[in-house]
Amino acid sequence: MTMNIAVLPGDGIGPEIIKQALRVLDVLKNEGMDMTFTEAPLGGQAYDQYGHPYPEFTQNICRAADAVLLGAVGGPQYDNLDRPLRPERGLLGIRKDLGLFANLRPAVLYPELANASTLKPEVVAGLDIMIVRELTGDVYFGQPRGMRTNENGEREGFNTMVYSESEVRRIAHVAFGIAMKRRKNGQKAKLCSVDKANVLETTEFWKEIVIDVAKEYPEVELSHMYVDNAAMQLIRNPKQFDVMVTGNIFGDILSDEASMLTGSIGMLASASLNATKKGLYEPSHGSAPDIAGKNLANPIATILSAAMMLRYTFDNEAAAQRIENSVKTVLAAGYRTGDIFEEGMKRVSCSEMGDQIVAAM
Ligand code: NAD
Repeated sequence: MTMNIAVLPGDGIGPEIIKQALRVLDVLKNEGMDMTFTEAPLGGQAYDQYGHPYPEFTQNICRAADAVLLGAVGGPQYDNLDRPLRPERGLLGIRKDLGLFANLRPAVLYPELANASTLKPEVVAGLDIMIVRELTGDVYFGQPRGMRTNENGEREGFNTMVYSESEVRRIAHVAFGIAMKRRKNGQKAKLCSVDKANVLETTEFWKEIVIDVAKEYPEVELSHMYVDNAAMQLIRNPKQFDVMVTGNIFGDILSDEASMLTGSIGMLASASLNATKKGLYEPSHGSAPDIAGKNLANPIATILSAAMMLRYTFDNEAAAQRIENSVKTVLAAGYRTGDIFEEGMKRVSCSEMGDQIVAAM
């Protein structure tokens, strides 16, 4: 089966980091992996060409693809556009269009980079956790919402926290599936569901459904944690977790917290999946306009996003691990882009980091 991959370089450092990820994928393609890449604009680049951040041309390519590999969007030159035309709206548009309800944010800290974290190296070295966040429901989308004047004549703002059973079931299945895939060396897979079931009925319901879905995954050890405790435990002892699953608002906060445990934004990949495992794969960072066009960006987050694509959309664990191991080899050999540079290491550019990872492949 041909893997049809839409490639959206985007703005700022997007084209530079995507170029390196494509070079790494080309190694696999040249060995016979059946991949096609179709490029399309998104964000500011798309606004410049088509007057819209997610134009029909790009929509058609993304809808027809099995997976989408994205660089980053945004830049100061677009900040004064009307809101619906801003690059970030392109991102919201593609997420909605493709029905991407499951956001996967790994927080991995290679032992070699333990000093990049603000936490003590012994707390974070070797950290490898995955946060699964529901992306299309919860208080961010619940109706009714708005601002009004109540019967006492006082103004108030209000939102609705709501999850339907099918929404909780589908994200729970994704999370249990990921926990199974990540099971290492015969160890039991672990999943921690994060809620606030002591206070919020929506999340009490969430917990009930997750427990029910767990019956289909006897190999996975399920635990539950209140969100306030989870926020604390992520800083106190993050290595106690393997996979965490939670709703949209808690996931928004916890995934950012977890990403900062690693201290190196240029290293963090992400994926957003729909019901048929079609996914959008992108680095967690933005378009870094301050270093764009200077060949300084760290391409590793994008390269690791490409590895996630092979694992989660194309079920090719061996190829995903080969990319991840190549990154590890290059870090162990001391190669560092500016954002993760330390004294005594070898400083390299974006394209030189690509050269090293391609060579390690
Ligand atoms: P940013 O992530 O682009 O940059 C923050 C800092 O991290 C900058 O100093 C940057 O140089 C550095 N940095 C980021 N990625 C790096 C990499 N790969 N290698 C080395 N250094 C890296 O965040 P920002 O400055 O707040 O936003 C810049 C633009 O990106 C804005 O227009 C914003 O809207 C957009 N943005 C896009 C996305 C996305 O495309 N998913 C996400 C966040 C921000």
